[in-house]
Amino acid sequence: MAKSQTIRTAPMDLFAIDSLLDDEERAIRDTVRRYCDEKIRPRIAGWFEEARIPARELAEELGSLGLLGMHLQGYGCAGTSATAYGLACLELEAADSGIRSLVSVQGSLAMYAIHRFGSEGQKEEWLPRMGAGHAIGCFGLTEPDFGSDPGGMRTRAVQDGDDWVLTGTKMWITNGSVSDVAIVWARTGDGMRGFVVPTDTPGFSATEIKHKMSLRASVSSELVLQDVRLPGTALLPEAKGLSAPLACLSEARFGIVFGALGAARDCLETAIAYAQTRQVFDKPLAAYQLTQAKLADMTIELGKGMLLAIHLGRIKDAGKIRNEQVSLGKLNNAREAIAIARECRTILGANGITLEYPIIRHANNLESVLTYEGTSEVHQLVIGQAVTGESAFR
Ligand SMILES: Cc1cc2nc3c(=O)[nH]c(=O)nc-3n(C[C@H](O)[C@H](O)[C@H](O)COP(=O)(O)OP(=O)(O)OC[C@H]3O[C@@H](n4cnc5c(N)ncnc54)[C@H](O)[C@@H]3O)c2cc1C
Repeated sequence: MAKSQTIRTAPMDLFAIDSLLDDEERAIRDTVRRYCDEKIRPRIAGWFEEARIPARELAEELGSLGLLGMHLQGYGCAGTSATAYGLACLELEAADSGIRSLVSVQGSLAMYAIHRFGSEGQKEEWLPRMGAGHAIGCFGLTEPDFGSDPGGMRTRAVQDGDDWVLTGTKMWITNGSVSDVAIVWARTGDGMRGFVVPTDTPGFSATEIKHKMSLRASVSSELVLQDVRLPGTALLPEAKGLSAPLACLSEARFGIVFGALGAARDCLETAIAYAQTRQVFDKPLAAYQLTQAKLADMTIELGKGMLLAIHLGRIKDAGKIRNEQVSLGKLNNAREAIAIARECRTILGANGITLEYPIIRHANNLESVLTYEGTSEVHQLVIGQAVTGESAFR
């Protein structure tokens, strides 16, 4: 009797994820996946190893695909749904978290800050160029001594006639040393305010942070502002207080809710394919119950994370999302993604630690994803506060 043959189902297909998406969302997802397959995947391990990224070239390509600030309306931006933006983030991060970071910081932090809080002049000057990828932006909130608690920042902006003079240091700023414009948050006599700082302004400098073992295909920089004199028009008029940068972070976190799952999916698909061909003790690794238990558990977490992401996407598209809900998604999906990456690494044995396979690269990248845009602990505190009514931040 012929042995029965089972047809393999991809993890996401087991959850019938496609049935939850509309035609436009599927088309955007497929376009980004094709772009990554053709342009990013063949080169990414090399960039990671050499700790470099052709940011300008990529920004132009990503801009021509309409992926920069894609969920913003007007000023040359594509104006897609938030869910479509999330799906794009997922495909970009399936290639590498560094590529998704470039897009998140450009669209959800720098462009969003200008779009939501900027003057008409600022929007017209920067958004079309940034959306096209002709100009790169960064977002300077974190300082050497203030990450989770940005309200303690020391960077100051002092008014001098019509001008503002900025002094301070920002740390860990993605895209920092390849940027044309920095959104810089500073303490003023009127609380925290945001400034649009062209990076060629005298007194502004950016130095790349070296020796990272995570997000190596991404530029992280220290920004130094030494008496940077800006005209009054550099102030983001509508950004008043800490809630303004936090609103930007919530936008970027939403992209991570989807993005982290891309890295996890790539790890899981790699591990499944590897387990099917790797022979141990005379049969494929995939045919052992222990391996199948790992793969089944990871498939479930990946699918649950995706259902959560799409659910949050729909709430966001209805204009009803709360910051605590974004925290739920960011915490769960980043945490599960790194757990999946580490488990997949075990399936590849020694091969799991080389750049021949994407898993260790994703696992290392996800260490940053777990930390930036609010650490896991910070999101636990946000959720804890939501369900208890008690703030435990201090
Ligand atoms: C690759 C990379 C890119 C980044 N890009 C940017 C960027 O573009 N722009 C930007 O502004 N920043 C950026 N960051 C900075 C990032 O947002 C911060 O690293 C993050 O907010 C954490 O701050 P910290 O590193 O200072 O850690 P800390 O705030 O010093 O935290 C250290 C530990 O203490 C925990 N902790 C903090 N507060 C509490 C508490 N109340 N209770 C219990 N535990 C607590 C944290 O969860 C963490 O485990 C980036 C970081 C990385 C790694």
